[in-house]
Amino acid sequence: MSNEIWVVAEHWRGEVHPVTRELLARAKELAAATSAKVVALILAREAPPLAAKLGGLSIDEVVCVSDAERERYRPRPYVDAAAAVIRKRSPSAVLVGATMSGHEFAASLAASLGTGIASDCLEIEWKDGGLMARRPAYGGRLLEGIQWTKDGIAVASVRPRAYADPGPGSGEAPPITEEAAAIPPEALDSEIVAFKKEEGETVNLADADVIVAGGRGLQVPENFSVVRELAEEIGGSVGASRAVVDAGWIPYPHQVGQTGKTVRPKLYIAIGISGAIQHLAGMKTSETIFAINKDPNAPIFKISTYSFVGDALQIVPKLTKKLRERRGAASPA
Ligand SMILES: Cc1cc2nc3c(=O)[nH]c(=O)nc-3n(C[C@H](O)[C@H](O)[C@H](O)COP(=O)(O)OP(=O)(O)OC[C@H]3O[C@@H](n4cnc5c(N)ncnc54)[C@H](O)[C@@H]3O)c2cc1C
Repeated sequence: MSNEIWVVAEHWRGEVHPVTRELLARAKELAAATSAKVVALILAREAPPLAAKLGGLSIDEVVCVSDAERERYRPRPYVDAAAAVIRKRSPSAVLVGATMSGHEFAASLAASLGTGIASDCLEIEWKDGGLMARRPAYGGRLLEGIQWTKDGIAVASVRPRAYADPGPGSGEAPPITEEAAAIPPEALDSEIVAFKKEEGETVNLADADVIVAGGRGLQVPENFSVVRELAEEIGGSVGASRAVVDAGWIPYPHQVGQTGKTVRPKLYIAIGISGAIQHLAGMKTSETIFAINKDPNAPIFKISTYSFVGDALQIVPKLTKKLRERRGAASPA
């Protein structure tokens, strides 16, 4: 087993997915404790140009596997190639973003390597000389800790935004090692026929810098408009607690929390949200948290940067109006 932590890079249309940088930055922190090397693995039609986009992250190496058949992600050709190079180097851990394709990829990779996987993790840390992952269990009712037996490669998929994105690096590109991994014809067992854009409202909470989120404290669905108006005024995305998603006030893609999105905006405004542990799990690492709640003992205030005790239905429209006036725009009657 080599003293290396690997991160499998995810990319789309020539750009590296932010989760790759997030995991490389976390891998660097973990590696510091054991003087391990941090290695990114890129499988692509042409991997080196993507490796150049990992400059400035101070990682030790990028292993590039280039092949025309790897134009787009397909499970078998990707997993077979990754497993082949990973077996060769036998790193102590392999981290994968828990994205739509990452879930499938990580599970297939672990099966191919004959090792254990911790999937959809929120945290990866050292414990008693080994890696430990924390992930929601029993439908999110508790966080379980998973440790790997010491002689296996630890494979984990980790949620996007579980760690901060250091941003696209512009520094010196990391050293590249090119590896060949032939694709046997039987591995080309599926083909991507087309990509279709999702219809309807698109919600990009994970990448939002500002989120205005509402909860049951708004009392009736019609009052959720105060959240939308404030979000629109400050250019934020709209988030919600599960209570209001379950009640049908707003669709699931807006839900923040353990069974919703994990977010890390610069500003998170929580309006009429109590701050249940499952909600906090998805937003507690926001840079600045501004909470409005009429209960001074609401748990959200334990983690908020700015706390407003009062009726959100009074405060929020006034706040939006003030901001509008400041901007010099005409406020609605
Ligand atoms: C397995 C599991 C997974 C879960 N996953 C999630 C998840 O992903 N995300 C999530 O959010 N929840 C999740 N939950 C639910 C979570 O436990 C809470 O029930 C939920 O977050 C509560 O939502 P809320 O804060 O909107 O409502 P409440 O807990 O009812 O809080 C409403 C708050 O509004 C305040 N309030 C009332 N009136 C006003 C007013 N006029 N002005 C200002 N404040 C007011 C109240 O003081 C209260 O604090 C999960 C639960 C389970 C069991």
